[in-house]
Amino acid sequence: MAEDGWLFDAFQLAEVSQGRPLSTLAFALLRRMHLIAHFQLSEARLARFLCAIEDGYPSNPYHCRTHAADVLRTVHCMMTRGKVGKMLGGDQRVDLLAVYLSALIHDFEHKGVNNQYLITTGDELALRYNDHSPMENHHIAAAFQLMLHDETNFFTNTNSKVREVIRRYVIELVLATDMKQAGSLPTPPPLANMGNKGQGVMDDDLRLLTLQMVMKVSDLGHLAHAKDVHRRWVQLLEEELFRQGDLEVAAGLPVSPLMDRTKAGVTRSQAGFFSLVCLPQLQAFTTVFSGCQPMLDQARENNQMWLEEARLQGEASPAPGLSGSPSRRYGPVVLPPMLSKADDGEEAATAPVTPAVVERAEGEEAGAAEGQRK
Ligand SMILES: [Zn+2]
Repeated sequence: MAEDGWLFDAFQLAEVSQGRPLSTLAFALLRRMHLIAHFQLSEARLARFLCAIEDGYPSNPYHCRTHAADVLRTVHCMMTRGKVGKMLGGDQRVDLLAVYLSALIHDFEHKGVNNQYLITTGDELALRYNDHSPMENHHIAAAFQLMLHDETNFFTNTNSKVREVIRRYVIELVLATDMKQAGSLPTPPPLANMGNKGQGVMDDDLRLLTLQMVMKVSDLGHLAHAKDVHRRWVQLLEEELFRQGDLEVAAGLPVSPLMDRTKAGVTRSQAGFFSLVCLPQLQAFTTVFSGCQPMLDQARENNQMWLEEARLQGEASPAPGLSGSPSRRYGPVVLPPMLSKADDGEEAATAPVTPAVVERAEGEEAGAAEGQRK
């Protein structure tokens, strides 16, 4: 089945599903992994819920239903083919349902601008959530509100204890996609100690932390896609960021970094982003979860592509602006929690990251999750 492959083209799925990549993929995965039967999910209600979620994704260049489908496919791949689910050692079906639902809704009704923009402009979501991850809080709350309606409440026959666990997981997983939240995640030594044993029973907190990392990596999953697909995602992200820049210009606000369409955007800073953020993170992650190594391999290939382009353009690499002193504003960025003791990951886990890189990283996740650009 196509969704099992590491290299996935969600744009193609959007075409063949006639504009329904998210609901089509979600229903197929839930059925294929026997989650519908196991949790006694109402198929008709589930189908209506999936379509309602998909319809709630605006046609943003980047934060659209196709992106959500792409993230969903990546979490599935990491949990199954990458064997992360097995390593968690708990009830894999609960974990799977939680990450699937999280991926499904993680950018629901995304406004195409970042959290800082919402806060600066006094958007109603910023007011409602007191400036705390307004976009992410909205994704979650709005999605669960759909279940208030009988016709879309697919959980009616599911054990209430399971529902409670799933809800708690989904809330924590989607909130973690805000880079500012992720930056403060504690480091759990037990997971690092697992090394490459490939087995282990984690306690609930550690399992949750791991699933948060799966979500975060998947939200940037295009970095490990085939070159042409990855490039297309970066171009779409750039356009979305430029559109926010346009709004900022129109509102008389300072234009955020990488959002000024008269200057270089994210397509010109990929090499530095890979070298300083993406690759260290993936390297640290795959040191523990070796089943996900293909993601790192492909990301390295993509990095080579950007390095070559930078070379041809006569740019230094890392790109200007991606080096310098650590940001006072953000402080050192703590990289993926479970990886702090990995051989290759230790240095990366404590390495300070420059303000420009933080901005770049946040810009990458430009929606459901990451901070600065969100
Ligand atoms: Zn996202």
